[in-house]
Amino acid sequence: MQPVFSIVIPCYNEEIVITDCHRRLSEVMQGLGESYELIFVNDGSRDATPVILDQLSENDPHVRVVHFARNGGHQIAVTAGVDYASGEAIVIIDADLQDPPEVIPEMVERWRAGVQVVYGKRRSRAGETWFKEKTAELYYRLMQNLTDDKFPRDTGDFRLVDKQVADVVRAMPEHSRYLRGMFAWAGFKQEPLLYDRDKRFAGESHYSIRKMLKLAIDGILSFSNKPLKLPLILGVFWTIAGLVTMLVLLIMNLTGYPVGLWWLAALMMVLSGSILGVLGIIAGYISRIYEEAKGRPLYIVERTTGFPKEGQQ
Ligand code: UDP
Ligand code: MG
Repeated sequence: MQPVFSIVIPCYNEEIVITDCHRRLSEVMQGLGESYELIFVNDGSRDATPVILDQLSENDPHVRVVHFARNGGHQIAVTAGVDYASGEAIVIIDADLQDPPEVIPEMVERWRAGVQVVYGKRRSRAGETWFKEKTAELYYRLMQNLTDDKFPRDTGDFRLVDKQVADVVRAMPEHSRYLRGMFAWAGFKQEPLLYDRDKRFAGESHYSIRKMLKLAIDGILSFSNKPLKLPLILGVFWTIAGLVTMLVLLIMNLTGYPVGLWWLAALMMVLSGSILGVLGIIAGYISRIYEEAKGRPLYIVERTTGFPKEGQQ
C-alpha cells in the first residue's frame, strides 16, 4: 500500500536528536490521520545514528531507513530519500528540528487546495550567527541577479512537494545538486509558507563553511551561464579600447605628437582582447555542452486534455 505522505529526513551524526525528531514527527503525522512513512536517510553517520534508526524501524512500522555506505552530503541524502519515497506528497525536513514539524499540517492544507510545491520561507532564523545571516542574504541577492528563473529567497529544503514534481526532479540526473533550485525550476504551482526557523534542537551544525560554499557555488553554476559570458564581454571591451587607442595614436602621429611606446600598450590591449574574445567563444560552446550534459528534460507536462485514454483507442 502506498502511503499518502512520505517524510524524508536526512541524518548525519544526529544521535542526540533522532529520537525526539521521530517522536515529534509521529505526533504530527498521527494527527493528520492518513497513512504515512518516515524515510530516514543515514548519510554515513559515524555515531549511534544507524543503531537508533534500526531500533526505531523495528518498533514503528512507519519508519524506513536508507543507510549510505559513505557520507554523500545533505543534498544527496535528500535525493535518495525522495527516490525511495512512494507517497502522494513528500515532505523534506531536517533531522535537527530546525524546521518545526508542526508546520506540516498547514503545508498539507495548501497541497489539498492544489498547490504542488509548498516551500518553507524563513520569517526569522533563531540562533543563527550574524555571519551566516549576512552571507545568506548576500548570496540570495547574487542568485537573483545571476539566474533568469527567479529563485525564492530565504528558502531552504524544508518543503512539501507533490509526487508529480518529485518525479520531475527524480528525472534530473545531474550530480551537483541544488535541490531547492531544481524544485523551483520544475514549475507547477508553488507557494511559500512563512515560518520561524528554530534553533538547532541539540548538537551542532554539520554544514561546515566548506560545505556551505560548495552548495552556494553549485547553486550558481547549475542555474546560471552568466559567469561564462564574462570573457566575451571583457574581450570585446579590450579589443575596442585597444582599437580606439590605436586610432588616437595614429592621429597623434600624423599631427606630429610623439607617441613613444604607447603603440605597445594599444597592441597589448587588442591582443589580450582577442584572446579573451576567443575564450568567450569557447565558453559559449562549453555552456552548450554543459546544458546538454545536465540532461534535464526539455519540457515538463503537467497534464494533457483531449487525448484518447490509454487502452481505449
Ligand atoms: N546532513 C546530512 N549530511 C551531511 C550534513 C548534514 O544528511 O553531510 C543533514 C543533517 O543531519 C540535518 C540536515 O542535513 O538533518 C541539515 O544539516 P545541519 O542542521 O547540520 O545544517 P544547518 O541547519 O546548520 O544548515
Ligand atoms: Mg540545522
